Amino acid sequence: MKSIGFSLLIAASAFLFSCGNNGMKKEEGKKKDSVAAVPDTFKFQAEQFADIRILRYQIPGFEKLSVKQKELLYYLYEAALAGKDIIWDQNYKFNLTVRKTLEAIVSTYKGDKNSEDWKKFMVYAKRVWFSNGIHHHYGMQKMLPEISTNYFADLVKNSDAAAFPVNKDENTKAFIKRITPIIFDPKVAPKRVNLDTKFDLVTSSSTNFYEGVTEKEATEFYKAMDKPDDKTPISYGLNSKLMKENGKLVEKVWKVGGMYSAALAKVVYWLEKASAVAENDTQKKALDLLIQYYKTGDLKTFDDYSIAWVADTESAIDVVSGYIEVYGDPLGKKGTFESTVSVKDMEASKRIAAIGGQAQWFEDNSSIAPEHKKKNVKGISAKVITVVQETGDAAPATPIGINLPNSNWIRQQHGSKSVNLGNIVYAYEKAKSASLIDEFYINPDMNKRVKQFGALSGALHTDMHEVIGHASGQINSGVGDPSATLKNYNNALEEGRADLVALYYILDKKLVDIGVMPSLEVGKAEYDNYITNGLMIQLARLKPGDQIEESHMRNRQMIAAWALEKGKKDNVIEKKKTDDGRTYFVINDYDKLHTLFGQLLKEVQRVKSEGDYTAGKNLIENYGVKVDTELHKEILTRYNKVGIAPYAGFIQPKLVPLMDGDKIVDVKVEYPSDFVQQMLDFGKNNALLPVVN
Ligand code: ZN
Repeated sequence: MKSIGFSLLIAASAFLFSCGNNGMKKEEGKKKDSVAAVPDTFKFQAEQFADIRILRYQIPGFEKLSVKQKELLYYLYEAALAGKDIIWDQNYKFNLTVRKTLEAIVSTYKGDKNSEDWKKFMVYAKRVWFSNGIHHHYGMQKMLPEISTNYFADLVKNSDAAAFPVNKDENTKAFIKRITPIIFDPKVAPKRVNLDTKFDLVTSSSTNFYEGVTEKEATEFYKAMDKPDDKTPISYGLNSKLMKENGKLVEKVWKVGGMYSAALAKVVYWLEKASAVAENDTQKKALDLLIQYYKTGDLKTFDDYSIAWVADTESAIDVVSGYIEVYGDPLGKKGTFESTVSVKDMEASKRIAAIGGQAQWFEDNSSIAPEHKKKNVKGISAKVITVVQETGDAAPATPIGINLPNSNWIRQQHGSKSVNLGNIVYAYEKAKSASLIDEFYINPDMNKRVKQFGALSGALHTDMHEVIGHASGQINSGVGDPSATLKNYNNALEEGRADLVALYYILDKKLVDIGVMPSLEVGKAEYDNYITNGLMIQLARLKPGDQIEESHMRNRQMIAAWALEKGKKDNVIEKKKTDDGRTYFVINDYDKLHTLFGQLLKEVQRVKSEGDYTAGKNLIENYGVKVDTELHKEILTRYNKVGIAPYAGFIQPKLVPLMDGDKIVDVKVEYPSDFVQQMLDFGKNNALLPVVN
């Protein structure tokens, strides 16, 4: 599971070392040291287009690593890049065809590159690069270029014909005819992931996880594999495409020698080099199992790997690699490729470890029913990492927290690893905007508090969401996996559960006692943030007429709207308007809101533990999906006025090995600043998959 930018104010959310209070002096000073290694002229924002900001991040402390550690990071970095095109094909069958077409035009077009049309074309190309395909990375809808099909045809005709992904015996005219509807026709592949149950979820989604298969067929295919009594169930379906051959359902497994072989062979090549310079035996064992998994596609090996990976808590260097998150599949089975390469931030990890160290206390004191509590919360390992490279599902848009593995039984029996992406959050913080806070936090107390404590409260929320949130609670025996019982609502409910644990405890004196926050004002700031974001600001991410589809957004509105309604009789949260008609929300009673969060946490945990599909569905559908049209319109106007794009993602650093013969003697980091150039470089150097036409 991942937590993504917690609010549009992510820019303003989250980090300890920007907190100027007394209790945090030590970490504050320390952090300044490590960041000071990089000059402060570093530009955190590179550019902005459409609804996107392109940011940059640094890798503080890289130079201080040993050569062997740098060498290991370099191999993991190459492995991450080798797999990166898999997500393009997973997201939509013709994404690579589109991307190569755009690359051909951007690199070889001979016409005017100053015209308005060209600028519009470039915005489209950048949006596609950013989203790893033609669908919006977050909203999932197809993005349409704001140029005419005639202009597009001119672009193709005036570029180098040899650069396009044409079929054998296909001339330019035929190629244009074939590709135009893929890019321009709103009816072709309108949505990557459709979660509207009025439709067949599989056939109405354009993801490439299924082909010629209906929702019913896919559901029955995997249901037949389910063994409800299995204590160590395999994640069937995680690493394959389901399609029909001669009328029969078959899985095309993503492995060396199977689907995506060309990329995976290279991933394995680099991982083998990494294994040879592993920091220790535990890490080497995990890497070797990962290699084995990519070679065989055996999901039992993937579980073995995940167990070995969880056990590796001593290494400084870590990597997430594989088909991990299932948000890209309307049925929540199939994993999208991602890789995150990182080094542990030893200093910042102390805060998160303080929370992880109290996991059993948090479980025991939670508002959930006693029978849903874990008697023995196991192996919650938490740390702050410094990201070195992200690819696939983790880039350019990135999570800020990761909690893996996703397999429930492994989490229960072997524990999980929770990480906070420290240098990413720091970069967001450096690119933040006070004007956005002023626009939406109109109540002076809330405004002041969010500015003063929003950074720390955001960091603590993320820590608790990952460390004690996802890790808490247990499923009643015999109920089976929540992805089967709660189906398409499971992701939103699970994210809601993790958020509620964080919200319940962030107003608890316990956090002051263990020294991770100076006062309960931090908790109040988080409530201010959560309610304002969940009821208002996050709507800026939607187009007029949209409903909420994305799981994290659904869970946030569900929680905020539920609390608004249930607190109505006590006026816990109050909707107000300024004289000039701007809506805002004020929290009148923080303690009562705390109690409400506790009640909802108890209920969501019950839904999850008992697999109560109807109750889960009602929570999400009644509170998390519908959009107040009038308020939405107002938010869009106000948000646009501030002029900050609601989404952000990152240009990746580049690792350059210095060689002596075939031996690596050092590795240097470069920080590219040109997004388009990086995308073209990736297209040139790391495109390993054949284009399917
Ligand atoms: Zn989460």
